[in-house]
Amino acid sequence: MKLLVNLVFVFLFLFGFCLCYGDFKISHNTVRSNSQKKLLLTFDDGPNAVTSPKLLDIFRKYDISVVFFVVGVNLKGDEWDCGAHLRSVVHEGHWLGAHTYSHVHLNQETDLEKQIVSMETMFEESTGIRSYIFRPPYGELNTNNRNFISKRGYLDLRWSQDPKDYTLKDTSEVDRLADKIYTMGMRGGVMLCHEKKTTPAALEIAIPRLIKSGVQFAKLEEYLNDKQLLHFIQSYHCDDNTNPFLYNSLCDRLKKESYLRDPNNQIEDKEQNNNQVKKDQGSEASLLEKKDLEKISESLSSLNSEFEDLKSEITINQKTLKEVQETLEKSKMGILKEKEINRLESQKNSIFIVSIVFLLILSIILSIKIFMSRSPNNKLI
Ligand SMILES: [Zn+2]
Repeated sequence: MKLLVNLVFVFLFLFGFCLCYGDFKISHNTVRSNSQKKLLLTFDDGPNAVTSPKLLDIFRKYDISVVFFVVGVNLKGDEWDCGAHLRSVVHEGHWLGAHTYSHVHLNQETDLEKQIVSMETMFEESTGIRSYIFRPPYGELNTNNRNFISKRGYLDLRWSQDPKDYTLKDTSEVDRLADKIYTMGMRGGVMLCHEKKTTPAALEIAIPRLIKSGVQFAKLEEYLNDKQLLHFIQSYHCDDNTNPFLYNSLCDRLKKESYLRDPNNQIEDKEQNNNQVKKDQGSEASLLEKKDLEKISESLSSLNSEFEDLKSEITINQKTLKEVQETLEKSKMGILKEKEINRLESQKNSIFIVSIVFLLILSIILSIKIFMSRSPNNKLI
């Protein structure tokens, strides 16, 4: 009977352990598979009149948000309205990133004003916002340039999957590229694509297959808010990007961009003329300026109260200092008096000693004289 009870206990223990272990394994795998199946698409080297509108059509159709890393010289062409395209990119929920002005090797380039800062102006002129996302051409970045980019508040966004769409020679290889995009997309992460002629056709095949297989096309915002996904965009980062202060300031800036992306704040009609766009940008800017002014006035008033506190503290300290000085003065006087008393005392003592000695000598002399006058020898003489 006792043996039977023991066996039942052992069985229950093993059963419970298996259940817990099984649960742990399932939940652990679920988290991993969920994050693995989130995919962010990124497109380098655009825009151009052929692929860019096609890509926007595809993403509109499947409700996908992507990142476009734009090359500055491509915005200069007269063949189409690049500004209108950039505005569509922003208003349709995509992100604009800088890919330098002329697609240079940033392990050598030194003209960063032209390659980086000019891009900010170009984005601002077209869309009213600058970009805080950056990708170096060829993935090359030396330490100096990395620090420059980091100081200007950029997120250096790299990739984890590269189907090498730029190696495609002709359209007959579209199916092969679609297979590669599908296979790599199943792993999740950040995918590097280019605005090549064959890429939209390959995506048209791969995207529905990926969606059917359960892959979620994530937005950049989701990557920033998910620590498990964040490593995809931080894997190649410079050390500064692991600095929480920089990361927080970056998130603040991206929030500011998100504010401009809000349908209530952005330009309502995509077809409106440039004057209307400028007017709206002005109102957006003034709204932001107003918010900034409010913040500045808040910080000024808090600074003012801090200043008042400091002022009263200084007054109190001054009073205390005066009191201390007075006490010191009194102590000094006391010490001087004491010294004078000591000096007089010692003088008195020395006069007393000298007088005693004098009296002693005098009495000795007198005694000798008396003794001499009474001696018998004196009588004989
Ligand atoms: Zn590139």
